[in-house]
Amino acid sequence: MYKDLERDVINAGKCVLCGTCVSACPEGVLALDKWGRRIVSTGKCRMDCNICTEICLGLHPIEVDPNEIFGDFKEVVQVRSLMDDAKDYSYFKYQAISRSLGTLAKPKSGVVSTILIHLLEQQLIDCAVVAGRRQDAPWRPSPAIATTKFEVLYACGTKPFQCPTNAVLFDAVSKFKSVALVGLPCHIEGARRLAQMYKEFREAITYWIGIPCGNVLNHDLLTKEAAGMGIDPETIMVVDFDNEVFKEKTPIENLGIYIVTKDGKKHPMHLNEFKASMAKECISCKDFSAEHTDFSVATLGAPTGWSTVFIRTGKAKELITKMANQAILNKRPQEYEKIEDKATLEAQAEMVWLKSQPKTWMSLVTTALNKRNRLYY
Ligand code: SF4
Ligand code: SF4
Ligand code: SF4
Repeated sequence: MYKDLERDVINAGKCVLCGTCVSACPEGVLALDKWGRRIVSTGKCRMDCNICTEICLGLHPIEVDPNEIFGDFKEVVQVRSLMDDAKDYSYFKYQAISRSLGTLAKPKSGVVSTILIHLLEQQLIDCAVVAGRRQDAPWRPSPAIATTKFEVLYACGTKPFQCPTNAVLFDAVSKFKSVALVGLPCHIEGARRLAQMYKEFREAITYWIGIPCGNVLNHDLLTKEAAGMGIDPETIMVVDFDNEVFKEKTPIENLGIYIVTKDGKKHPMHLNEFKASMAKECISCKDFSAEHTDFSVATLGAPTGWSTVFIRTGKAKELITKMANQAILNKRPQEYEKIEDKATLEAQAEMVWLKSQPKTWMSLVTTALNKRNRLYY
C-alpha cells in the first residue's frame, strides 16, 4: 500500500528520489508532487501489491562488491566530443541573459550528449530518458524524454541534485520501441529492477548509460544555505561542482561548488559551506560507478574537456570505437600517469564521494586505487 511506502520510506527520510516506484506501480497511482520533490499518491491504491516497497531503492539499497568500486569493465578510456554543437553548447546559448554566462553550464566534455545525438540520428534509439531541466528553475533537474537533438542539448550540463528520472520511464517505454537511459547508479539499478519485473522495460531499454555518483545536493538544503549567504534563490541559474573555484589551492578543503545568479555573478561555496546540503538519504547508496550499464561516463580522472569512460559491454565498445573512427568522438587511453593535475582530481574524487560517505568507504577507495596501481584514477 502507498501508506507503507509513505511511512517506511518517504517519511522515514529514506527516499533517494529515483522515481522508480512511479513507473513500477501497476495501478498508476504514484506520481511526483508539483515540485518534483516527493512521491505522492494520486488515487486509491486498491491492489495492495507492495511492488512499490519491494522495488524501492531507499528501502533496498543497491548491493555491489565494495572491493570493486568501478565495477566490471572491458576498457577505460578518455573521451571527448568532436561534435561542435555538443561540445560548445551551453544552456545559456539560447537564453536572453548575460552573455558572460555563456561558458558556464557547458557539458564537461559533451560525450553523453554527442552519443545520444548520434544514436537518435542513426535511429538506433527513439528517445533518451535523461535528467532535464525545470522550465521555472533551470538549475534544478527534472525527468525528461528527449527525442531531438535540441532536447538532448537543453538537458546537458551537470545538475548535481536528486532527480526522479525513472518516473518518466514508463511513459518512455510505452511510447517508444528503443530507449536509452542516462542515469545515476540509483536510476540504473531501479530500471534494472523494472526490467526484471516487466517485459516492456526489458525490451525497450536498449542503451544503459551511467553517470558515477557519490552523493548529490538536496535542493531545499542548498537553497537555505544560499539564502544564508544573501543569495536570493529565485535568481539562481546554475549550481555545479567546480574544481576551478579555488584553483590555486588543490587540497580537498579548498574545493567547492559555485552558484551563478541571473546578474552573471559566480558565487563560490566552500566544501565546508555546502557539506550540510548533501542529500542525507544517499548515505546507504554503495554503487559509485553505475556498474550495471553499457558504459559509465565520469568527469573524475579526466582533464578539462575530457571524460573518463568505463566501457563495460561489447555493444558499447563497438559504438564508441565506431564514433571515434568517424571522428565524432576523440578517444585515447586513460593513463593515470599522463594526467597532469593529479592532486585536483584526487581531491575532486574525495569531495564528491568519499567525504560524503562513512569512513570505511574512504579506505576502500584507497585500497582500490592502490590495487589498480593508480592506472585509472
Ligand atoms: S498499487 Fe501496488 S505499487 Fe501501486 S501504490 Fe499500491 S501497493 Fe504500491
Ligand atoms: S522507489 Fe525511489 S522514488 Fe520511490 S520511494 Fe523508493 S527511493 Fe523514493
Ligand atoms: S548517491 Fe547518487 S546514485 Fe546513490 S542514491 Fe544518491 S543520487 Fe542516487
